[in-house]
Amino acid sequence: MDSGIHLVGRSGPIDRFSTSNPATGEPIADYPVASAEDVSAAVARAHQAQLWWSQVPLLRRAAVLRRLAQLLSAERESLAAVITSESGKPLQEALLSDVMVAADAALFCAENAAVVLRTQPIPHSNPALRFKRGKLSWRPLGVIGIISPWNYPLSIPAADAFAALATGNAVVLKPSELTPQSVLELDRLIAAALDAEQLTTLPRPFQVITGLGPTGQHLIASPIDKLIFTGSVATGRRVAVAAAARLLPVTLELGGKDAMIVLADADLDTASSAAVWGSMMNAGQTCISVVRCYVHRSVYSPFLARCLDKIKQLKIGDGSLPDTDLGPLISFRQLQIVEHQVEEARALGAIVHIGGVPLPNLGSNFFAPTLITDLDRSMCLMREETFGPVLPVVPFSSDEEAIAFANDSNFGLAASVWGSTAHATSVARQIAAGAVLVNDLISGFAVSAAPHGGIKLSGIGRTHGLLGMQDLLRPCYLDVDLLPRMKKLWWYPYAGNFAPMSAFTELIHASTLLRRLTAALRALPAFFHRRR
Ligand code: NAD
Repeated sequence: MDSGIHLVGRSGPIDRFSTSNPATGEPIADYPVASAEDVSAAVARAHQAQLWWSQVPLLRRAAVLRRLAQLLSAERESLAAVITSESGKPLQEALLSDVMVAADAALFCAENAAVVLRTQPIPHSNPALRFKRGKLSWRPLGVIGIISPWNYPLSIPAADAFAALATGNAVVLKPSELTPQSVLELDRLIAAALDAEQLTTLPRPFQVITGLGPTGQHLIASPIDKLIFTGSVATGRRVAVAAAARLLPVTLELGGKDAMIVLADADLDTASSAAVWGSMMNAGQTCISVVRCYVHRSVYSPFLARCLDKIKQLKIGDGSLPDTDLGPLISFRQLQIVEHQVEEARALGAIVHIGGVPLPNLGSNFFAPTLITDLDRSMCLMREETFGPVLPVVPFSSDEEAIAFANDSNFGLAASVWGSTAHATSVARQIAAGAVLVNDLISGFAVSAAPHGGIKLSGIGRTHGLLGMQDLLRPCYLDVDLLPRMKKLWWYPYAGNFAPMSAFTELIHASTLLRRLTAALRALPAFFHRRR
């Protein structure tokens, strides 16, 4: 089916790509592949739009975002259905982790853009510079390119786009080729919100380009002012290299290998429910999740038994059915990666307690929820991103060992620690990751005010929160001299001025009053020095 999306101003043949429902394999729609010329045209439109959009008073920009939050909420169920159809995730997850997170992000940006855009006074401490007033103001960068993945097809690009729009930037967004419709729905809602606020000037400050990897490459090569890339480490490296060639600032939100630590004093019933949900939600295809679960030896067996019992109760199937807990993987290729990692671990001695196999009777992309133990750090399953419904559990003997296990990773996106609050918090402080949650997991992503991002291979920079918005602004220092007719003490000629200026330096930093006084006397000639 034709998506009805056509590229503005394009004549001649257009390449197209198509999407399909990962649960059923049914085709959904096909979309144009944006060429280098199409991307240039979209970026040019965005630059044009940014000129008027950045002049719209902040209160009106905020009103657009508030309106967007209302529209997202009003259309939540139909949007969830679109997200489920192209990503495969259960409807409830599409509703809560995509639509609700996006609506919250719109409100957060509406209410907090003023904080990051506020002009700050810059005091001058040096007496020679006292007769000046300095101010730091924050200006939008211009056009923000966003390249987004398929696993949170609405909430990830929406939160980044809202931060950009709130701060007066325009956006050119390339969604994943697997889930473009979610972003095209967002495009429709942004247009509706602008119209509702009587901001009907064209072009709009939000432009969408559809396509595959090369379209993303064209975007990086185009005259955007910053790129926010969310995706795999492999692509992130390529993006970083391409961006470096033209010194384009980038934020990289990449993969994760999140640890969950279950201490001896954890509530085992809650922690086991969390481990199962955290590792299986979105069929395990969540960047912040549970992919290495470390459990204290004293509670290892009862914890494992609880996890096994809870995994057995999961309902697997088409995410659009109301009682489905676990949908398909995004693609057969992704299923092969997961299967390969589980098989490699099994061959090296790991024990699969449940699952560990594809479920072809449900469809080509379904993989059984898997509980696996007896692992070691050499296995791919413990080192590389898995992105499948697999819960690997490993025992530990002491806090120190748990911390060492958790930190033994090339990734550092997020982690969680479970136990009594004081104990778990003290362990959490020693985990190397962008976010560490105590007695909860994943939900930090839904806290619009909390910065999101990782360390090590998990990425560079932060999105979300005030830090995310600040990253889309450039500081501009404005300095006004209050003595415009006075030539400065440090100007030409230097002849005869070195000794008084040396004394002036001493005057500022001398430790005793007497030294300061004598330095002041020696510095006096600097004030009477005849300047050119
Ligand atoms: P991916 O790297 O395959 O693709 C991401 C996007 O990059 C897509 O839109 C794709 O078309 C585009 N792309 C591909 N090649 C490109 C190139 N050479 N230049 C520019 N753009 C290019 O990732 P994916 O499979 O869509 O997403 C899954 C990955 O994303 C996982 O690794 C996951 O951990 C990561 N992820 C990270 C976060 C985070 O916040 N850190 C969030 C969600 C997903």
